[in-house]
Amino acid sequence: MIHTDVLIIGSGVAALQLAKKLSYDSNVIVLTKSYVRQGNSNLAQGGIAAALADEDHPTNHYKDTIEAGRFTNNHELVKEMTNDAPDLIRELLREGCNLDRNDNGELFLGLEGAHSHHRIVHGGGDATGQKVMDFLVEKTKHIQIIEHMTVIDLLISDDKCIGVKAKNTEGEVKSFFANHIVLATGGLGGLYSFTSNENTVTGDGIALAYRAGAEVCDMEFIQFHPTLLFVNGQCKGLVSEAVRGAGASLVIRDGTRIMKGIHPMEDLAPRHIVSQTIYDHLQTGKQVYLDIRRIVEFQKKFPTITAMCHENHIDISHGMIPVVPGCHFLMGGVKTDHFGRTSINGLYAIGEVAYTGMHGANRLASNSLLEGLFFGKRLAEYIHSKKEEGVRIQGFPLPMARNSTNERLILPDIEMVQRKMMNDAGIVRNGRQLKRHLAWLESFRIQKLLTCSLDDKTEQEIQVIFMLITAWLVTQSALLREESRGGHYRADFPYEEESWLTKKVILKQQSTQGEYYEQIKAAYAT
Ligand SMILES: Cc1cc2nc3c(=O)[nH]c(=O)nc-3n(C[C@H](O)[C@H](O)[C@H](O)COP(=O)(O)OP(=O)(O)OC[C@H]3O[C@@H](n4cnc5c(N)ncnc54)[C@H](O)[C@@H]3O)c2cc1C
Repeated sequence: MIHTDVLIIGSGVAALQLAKKLSYDSNVIVLTKSYVRQGNSNLAQGGIAAALADEDHPTNHYKDTIEAGRFTNNHELVKEMTNDAPDLIRELLREGCNLDRNDNGELFLGLEGAHSHHRIVHGGGDATGQKVMDFLVEKTKHIQIIEHMTVIDLLISDDKCIGVKAKNTEGEVKSFFANHIVLATGGLGGLYSFTSNENTVTGDGIALAYRAGAEVCDMEFIQFHPTLLFVNGQCKGLVSEAVRGAGASLVIRDGTRIMKGIHPMEDLAPRHIVSQTIYDHLQTGKQVYLDIRRIVEFQKKFPTITAMCHENHIDISHGMIPVVPGCHFLMGGVKTDHFGRTSINGLYAIGEVAYTGMHGANRLASNSLLEGLFFGKRLAEYIHSKKEEGVRIQGFPLPMARNSTNERLILPDIEMVQRKMMNDAGIVRNGRQLKRHLAWLESFRIQKLLTCSLDDKTEQEIQVIFMLITAWLVTQSALLREESRGGHYRADFPYEEESWLTKKVILKQQSTQGEYYEQIKAAYAT
């Protein structure tokens, strides 16, 4: 049995920022499913948003964030984050993070969709995530980071989270106990067959939290990135929004620009509008391309995208990159307050796994690395303040036991879940499809999956169980929200409804104890 002050699950930007900030005076252990860098943070291309230009101001960044979020954001939090953003960037630079500058030593500030000003700080051209991760991995190398350790359950005692169970690659189950347990497991792109996400990112943290009885919020708000490289029927990676920021436009084969007349910002319109427009063309059998012919020195500006195209035999000298929209970012997640505390004592969530209200119904581009940096720092300050107050677990309480079952579970394969999510709970949804999909998910006995012990299940079974639970939460939430807003588009309720502006879809198990459980399905007014 291992005991530490703070246990962090996941090793992306949110996790490592927190670990870096705490490591000076706390014992921290990081558990991560695969290699330390194998998450979405390492893949981030475009950059980090911060109002650093003379002609810009955090208020503009705040307004753009709220507009993209369709006004459902937590306004106070957005104000705080956009105000702190310039300082977070200055701190990265001061501590040695390598971000791109011009010959005068000034930061390059790029432009991305739905930003009113040039404010995207980047590193290595389009390798920002890699640069930030290089920096954070270096700064946390004195911390115990245990790779290939998949967390399979949260340990709850007297309504407090006291630790986790995790499995290594040999299938051994280990218990870890801590005063503070932090979920930083990222989003859920792996639930969909078309996604920009790393394959370790499959909604585990949300399933873990929900099984433990935590509240999850607004799981229907999922951003589908408009432009994933599409080759031979498969997504091969992300073609950043910065490419459109630099002058590329979306066209069909005959060169017609598809965003003309759709939105005043045309190719730089908010992502859900661009994704839906591309999707509509695909539905009529038309392939959509990014026309990059107007971008001078494309290869120099976008080396990662150039390499990805070469690897996939797309000749960019023709100036046309075939693209499709795919699952990119989860705005909903485990509900937290403005420190990162969940509804379960001792359990926190930061980064993409968390619903903080920062992004509202849709995330503004380049605000998520920023959110990870912001909440990593903020939660560190909170945990630090608790340490000063001297809060500690007394002894080792006994965690709640799970029902072990010898029954063989009948589960679908991963690809089947992904395909069905893409078709039935994807970019365009409708009530009939969602109900049918919910029934399909429930045929795998979600109730049982929520309460059973996972100790004796294989890695693959655990993966599918987590995916089914998270898919169920997305589908249920999408069915409950009878309007279209941001990343949630219902063909049967195609408009924003005033009455939904102040509501959230919060799902929670009423009881995780004993033989029974009950779902609360509710849309609470805020
Ligand atoms: C291709 C791409 C490009 C992007 N570009 C940008 C950009 O330019 N700017 C921007 O702001 N955002 C961008 N984003 C979004 C941004 O990268 C992510 O939102 C952010 O990095 C999430 O960070 P995180 O720390 O929450 O999680 P992640 O970096 O996703 O890390 C999650 C970690 O949790 C681990 N994990 C998961 N489940 C378990 C488990 N059961 N047990 C143990 N460990 C587990 C994973 O292995 C991983 O280490 C991009 C995303 C993608 C996919």
